[in-house]
Amino acid sequence: MENDNNFQFKHSLGQNFLTDTNLLKAIVSDAKLKDSDNVLEIGAGAGALTSQICLSTKGKVVSVEIDKSLKSTLENLKFENLSLKFDDILKVDPNQLKQWFGGEPFKVVANLPYYISTPILFYLLENGFPIESITIMLQLEVAQRLSAKSGTKNYGALTVLLNLVSDVTLTRKVSKQMFTPTPKVDSAVVFIDIHKNFASLSANLIKFIKSCFLMRRKTLCNNLIKELNLSREECEALLKSCNLNLNVRAENLETTDFLNLFEQLKNTKILA
Ligand code: SAM
Repeated sequence: MENDNNFQFKHSLGQNFLTDTNLLKAIVSDAKLKDSDNVLEIGAGAGALTSQICLSTKGKVVSVEIDKSLKSTLENLKFENLSLKFDDILKVDPNQLKQWFGGEPFKVVANLPYYISTPILFYLLENGFPIESITIMLQLEVAQRLSAKSGTKNYGALTVLLNLVSDVTLTRKVSKQMFTPTPKVDSAVVFIDIHKNFASLSANLIKFIKSCFLMRRKTLCNNLIKELNLSREECEALLKSCNLNLNVRAENLETTDFLNLFEQLKNTKILA
């Protein structure tokens, strides 16, 4: 790393950095940034992606990094539109984050720390942020899960939640050799184009969809009985009211089925 040859990469913080300028430019190009876009980056690292983001927009760029030992390296970046925050993204008060952009919409561009990629996605979706799109590097397996079709083994709760609010495209696969140090797994970039009318996912809807997928090999009814304390009769009546087979599994449902089920449940004591 420039300016700091003694830097010790922290595996526990998911520190696998990128250096290849063509790849960094490609990620930013996948994000389709416009001249005035505001951007949130999560995990600045040594600032390689940060620099490409700052070169691509005149809007405000806020980059959050948990590791304070990267401070001296990052403070060498001289971009007028860049604001660095040394914090754990998951502990940032959502209202404060909105204030960083003055309440204006923003895009997310990041090479995520993989050990918390799922909690970060939930954090971004749950808090009513005015996000326009999310372009993220993820572990290939997780990227495939996000863009999976119903009926396939990769289809899960996060797939359904993202389908509700966005269109997801896997834009490129990235070999593990592109990272320093080299991780065990390959990666991919995913572009999540958030629907314009999206406000926020309610905690109850998220809880419900997670419950449906609790045990993948169990039927939907068995998962709901266990997680939402429904009786078998209540559960079967619920499925019938949505024209679903009593033995159906969550992975075979379409997004609209989940919404129908949730609407029916809201009319009962369970999710009132
Ligand atoms: N953006 C850089 C790049 O592409 O080379 C670094 C990406 S590296 C995969 C992920 C970065 O996220 C690391 O610098 C790590 O220290 C940081 N990080 C890990 N956990 C974090 C957290 N909870 N909040 C903010 N940053 C975090």
